[in-house]
Amino acid sequence: MSTTPRREFLQQSLAAATVWSLLPNSLQAESHRDVSLKLSSFTVDVTPPKGHSLCGGWITPVLDVTDSLQAHGIVLQGAGKPMVIVALDWTALSNGGHLLWRERIASAVDTTPERVAIHCVHQHNAPFACLEAQAIVDAQGDLPHIVMEDYFHDCSQRTAKAARLSMSNAQPVTHIGKGEAKVEKVASNRRIYRDENGVIKAMRGSSCKDPKLRAMTEGTIDPMLKTISFFNQNQRVAAIHYYATHPMSFYGDGLVSSDFVGIARKKLQQEQKDCHHIYFTGAAGNVSAGKYNDGSKPVRAVLAQRILQGMKASLENTSVSPIKTVSWSNVAILPEVRSTFNKEDLNKIISNKDGSVVSRNRPSYMLAWLNRVERKQPIILSSLGINDIATLHLPAESFIEYQLRAQKLAPAKFVATAAYGDGGPWYLPVKEEYPAKGYEVRVAFCEPSVDDVMSTGIKQLLDS
Ligand SMILES: [Zn+2]
Repeated sequence: MSTTPRREFLQQSLAAATVWSLLPNSLQAESHRDVSLKLSSFTVDVTPPKGHSLCGGWITPVLDVTDSLQAHGIVLQGAGKPMVIVALDWTALSNGGHLLWRERIASAVDTTPERVAIHCVHQHNAPFACLEAQAIVDAQGDLPHIVMEDYFHDCSQRTAKAARLSMSNAQPVTHIGKGEAKVEKVASNRRIYRDENGVIKAMRGSSCKDPKLRAMTEGTIDPMLKTISFFNQNQRVAAIHYYATHPMSFYGDGLVSSDFVGIARKKLQQEQKDCHHIYFTGAAGNVSAGKYNDGSKPVRAVLAQRILQGMKASLENTSVSPIKTVSWSNVAILPEVRSTFNKEDLNKIISNKDGSVVSRNRPSYMLAWLNRVERKQPIILSSLGINDIATLHLPAESFIEYQLRAQKLAPAKFVATAAYGDGGPWYLPVKEEYPAKGYEVRVAFCEPSVDDVMSTGIKQLLDS
């Protein structure tokens, strides 16, 4: 394992922040016609070692591994500088650490960090990585780590190396496919139980034992699982699946798992060895399996089977066309920090030795976010366009409404959304949801104005 001293990491992050030519909400877009597109893909094991914190340190740390965590990615060459998309089996990857991963991969494949999109799948028996929050809890001396730095750097360096090595095995991709299928009985809205004023009375979590909450309707979700397939003539070489739900069946037992979505993906991969299957979690900030999941052990396999069926149906429903145009666009945004955050208060809570781990680690993430916005390190929204297909790369725990609106904004396009990119801002509710309160709004790190900033950025990307 190699290490990167914190000073070097900070210097790298600051350098990247200052060389960024993008001003907030300025669009960078380039489009290529008649391309000879090539694709390579890679898989990296990112399973944390025994004793590593899970979900930020406030649940049982790693005792054992049920099934491995992985990073899966593709590198696309032949349309400007290389473009990289990575799905990472972590809870989140935030702030300077997200930038550092993108910088490492970008420099390994000779592209820019804006053309590298990294998204977590958001399992919870998994690491929740923020190097700045880690430095804050480390300075306390009595808090569990958030992420082990050696492990963090080792994962990012091995992923960057794997991306580079994959390029020598790149193969032509001549055709692109789009497919979708409805997933039965997985996604349900968490914010369904409200009083007469619309204010949240109780949350339907990722698992839910309350029969009254489980009997309520699914609420606002996107029921469709979408798949983008890359073909070398008639050979499908990679398939990227998108579906919006929190991916947890049960967690907190110290047993690392890629959970039901990861298990579904692994099963499909075993059955179809010639095609690299990758899975992204969509804008699921307010969506989970709570209606269909009582948290008991057997439900994990049931949910995995439903996702697997959705992926297979989506593959079968695929329509294929020759690749004509390829584009990449990105927009930098800098949302406003929640006005209630201030450094003095946060530091007081973090250093209160009588507080619980969660009550001290969570403000460490808040402080990390506050510092990050202060140094004006933007969040990058991006989109890969191929013919009429557009991926949409969103940050953190974006609410499902962003994904639904994006599809409405571009009715002529097939929009596939991955969220849980840069995890810095935690929950990203739409502005109408702030007055409804509830858990997600309480721990949202941005002001309601984030909605306008995100929506403008999404529109710019889809219009480009
Ligand atoms: Zn979440």
